[in-house]
Amino acid sequence: MLIDATGDADLAHFLGLPEYTRAYLQPPSACFRLRGDLAGVDLNRLIAEHGDEVGLPQDWGWYGAIPGYTDITFHADTHLRGTDATSGRSLSDAETEGRRHMDAILTLLKKYAPGDWRLMQACAAVGIRESRHIRARHTVTQDELLSGIVPPDAVVRGTYPVDVHHDHDAGITFRYLDGTQNVVADRAHPGVVSRWRESTDSPTSYAAPLGAIVQETYGNFICAGRMLDADEGAYGALRVMVNLNQYGEAAGVAAALALSEDCAIGQVSAERVRGSLKNGGSAL
Ligand SMILES: Cc1cc2nc3c(=O)[nH]c(=O)nc-3n(C[C@H](O)[C@H](O)[C@H](O)COP(=O)(O)OP(=O)(O)OC[C@H]3O[C@@H](n4cnc5c(N)ncnc54)[C@H](O)[C@@H]3O)c2cc1C
Repeated sequence: MLIDATGDADLAHFLGLPEYTRAYLQPPSACFRLRGDLAGVDLNRLIAEHGDEVGLPQDWGWYGAIPGYTDITFHADTHLRGTDATSGRSLSDAETEGRRHMDAILTLLKKYAPGDWRLMQACAAVGIRESRHIRARHTVTQDELLSGIVPPDAVVRGTYPVDVHHDHDAGITFRYLDGTQNVVADRAHPGVVSRWRESTDSPTSYAAPLGAIVQETYGNFICAGRMLDADEGAYGALRVMVNLNQYGEAAGVAAALALSEDCAIGQVSAERVRGSLKNGGSAL
């Protein structure tokens, strides 16, 4: 049994399985931890107003406290737009540029908010939000996911909203189960709230199908992770850890059932997968 958990679907790619990428992939961020008390500093405003002095592009980003510490914050302040995580050259460029962003932010802080600022920890590698997707049995769409209707082969239950970091501009889009959306142009502007669908339905959760990680070509192969098959909006919701953990567990259960039942993974009943997940305590 082969479970492709490479994020980029490397194994599927080398096996020649159908795959796709989007014109705009959610861009990576180079995360880091900063030491210094940010309580009285509006870092987003600082970057918006002075970022161009240190070569930081217009962007949206976020940072926050690390529980238990008053002087250490985590940062995903910038993006590395245009990165292709399946290209060594492009990844190397992103690593270099991401480290330059960290240095630029420290330079800004030292200039405009004097204090004892330290780069406490830089990420070991840039964080990839999106690259290749496999063409699976089913492509999850935003409309069906956020409708809250439970598909017959549901193996994931979630509430996290659609969260699409833009590659084509400096913005981010959130879409919610209640039909509202918040589109933020960049860190200098407040988000614009509107409706993304006319229906006023407001389900409290959604469910996602096993079909998004199952292919039929190889009986001993399944995917687990962000290479799953989904349109831009559905991917924006499913890509987070709380959902991918569940897909990972479902992939493992499907592989184990295929072995014990001596059948192809594509023939394993989703009902049996769900039963096993429920026995393990999954809130499906
Ligand atoms: C900057 C950033 C912030 C995020 N923030 C949040 C958040 O706040 N909350 C949240 O829930 N989610 C967040 N996410 C999303 C979430 O973290 C990822 O989508 C998720 O971790 C992807 O999991 P994955 O296992 O599919 O892929 P990955 O985490 O990319 O893991 C793939 C693994 O496979 C390894 N690998 C790759 N190729 C090979 C190979 N050929 N052989 C062996 N190993 C290989 C890689 O080294 C890597 O360890 C964030 C993502 C990013 C990038």
